[in-house]
Amino acid sequence: MAETAKDAALAVCSCGKVELEATGEPIMSVVCYCGSCQEGSRQMEALPDGRRTCGPDGGTPYVAYRKDRVAYPMGSELLRDLRLAEESPTRRVVAGCCNSPMFLDFEKGHWLSVYRSALRGAPPPAEMRVQTKSKPTGVELPEDIPSHRGYPLRFVAKLLRARAAMLFGG
Ligand SMILES: [Zn+2]
Ligand SMILES: [Zn+2]
Repeated sequence: MAETAKDAALAVCSCGKVELEATGEPIMSVVCYCGSCQEGSRQMEALPDGRRTCGPDGGTPYVAYRKDRVAYPMGSELLRDLRLAEESPTRRVVAGCCNSPMFLDFEKGHWLSVYRSALRGAPPPAEMRVQTKSKPTGVELPEDIPSHRGYPLRFVAKLLRARAAMLFGG
């Protein structure tokens, strides 16, 4: 295993050949219930040895990091992109060695959403649920953290703040 900086988070595939390292504070830790994340989860589950990324309530937990702070110490050549549609700007990336879901990349964005399931150690707890208008019917969400039907202002503000920090060297 490669050396990891103290403030770095490490995501590792289940067979250990692929590592992703994110340094610095994450932008945020969220659970997404949108239809695409549920569909993407089904797509990844259908792979050989595949597994789902969404939980039984339909939500996929992510921790978002700045793209400029993400490195691939091991196995980057094994990463494999999956898209829901050929022209989609969103790729869901698995480790091709063992089909572990690693991260979601909205290619027009400045952040990378790492699947919480791939992160080692103690990833930050989820702060909010988003896109809950698409949660599966019958699912009741607890009130431990805020749930939002779409993307709340707080979510957008966090992404903008990270973008500003990147532009101004923060
Ligand atoms: Zn692997
Ligand atoms: Zn989503």
